[in-house]
Amino acid sequence: MKRVIVTGGNRGIGFEVARQLAGRGFHVFIGARSEQHGQRAVEQLKQAGKVSLLVLDVADSKSIARAAENFASNGSLDVLINNAGVYQDEGRSILTVSREQMVETLQTNTLGPLAVTQAFLPYLKKSQGARVINFSSGYGQLEGLSANVPSYCLSKLALNGITLMLAEALKADGIAVNSLCPGWVRTDMGGASAPRSVEEGADTAVWLATEADQQLTGKFFRDRKEIPW
Ligand code: NAP
Repeated sequence: MKRVIVTGGNRGIGFEVARQLAGRGFHVFIGARSEQHGQRAVEQLKQAGKVSLLVLDVADSKSIARAAENFASNGSLDVLINNAGVYQDEGRSILTVSREQMVETLQTNTLGPLAVTQAFLPYLKKSQGARVINFSSGYGQLEGLSANVPSYCLSKLALNGITLMLAEALKADGIAVNSLCPGWVRTDMGGASAPRSVEEGADTAVWLATEADQQLTGKFFRDRKEIPW
């Protein structure tokens, strides 16, 4: 049985990705910073397949180290989905965003995925053809940068840089690393007027975790198609 970790899997797109991959026979580990919320998600997904809780705050190095230690008994990891993210730019612009705000967003959206990938690398290396999938955004594209969404845009732009560098560094190990944009999705983050359902938002991540050619690496996808950085 293949194993996948979905960070921030307790709600939103991550929850839907977890549900779909459980249905496809994966043992899904829901990464959640709140044990209570994570446990609730695991209960909700019980019917979908094999789902376990992994307490994991991606902004906290100690929590990441503990999660990696707790995962050891499982052996290998086939897919890591760095989905957890925050959007905290309401009412801010590149002219007013504080250094503290920048650091806070980068901790979760950028440095989190990097640190989680580093911590789980020993398990990914034990799998045949492992995959790392980073949830980026059109806001992280060079042409998508918006002065009114400063910390979020920069966090995803830098996350794309991490995708490129990890892909290069892990090529010899046969580990694929890609970024994706889910589109604008109706979640707590995306809001009620977003055009896409969570099912649509989860589609490219599920595809990258399963049917996509494992040789594809160092690329950026939306709707299963490559898009420019
Ligand atoms: P969401 O509904 O706001 O859910 C975010 C998830 O991330 C929650 O499970 C949250 O956990 C978790 N999270 C936040 N900080 C965390 C931390 N430090 N450690 C662990 N988990 C943490 O967001 P979403 O819309 O599903 O977005 C998922 C991903 O897609 C994000 O990376 C986002 O940037 C990206 N994206 C979304 C859209 C969109 O339109 N929705 C568009 C482009 C890209 P808690 O419940 O504990 O807060």
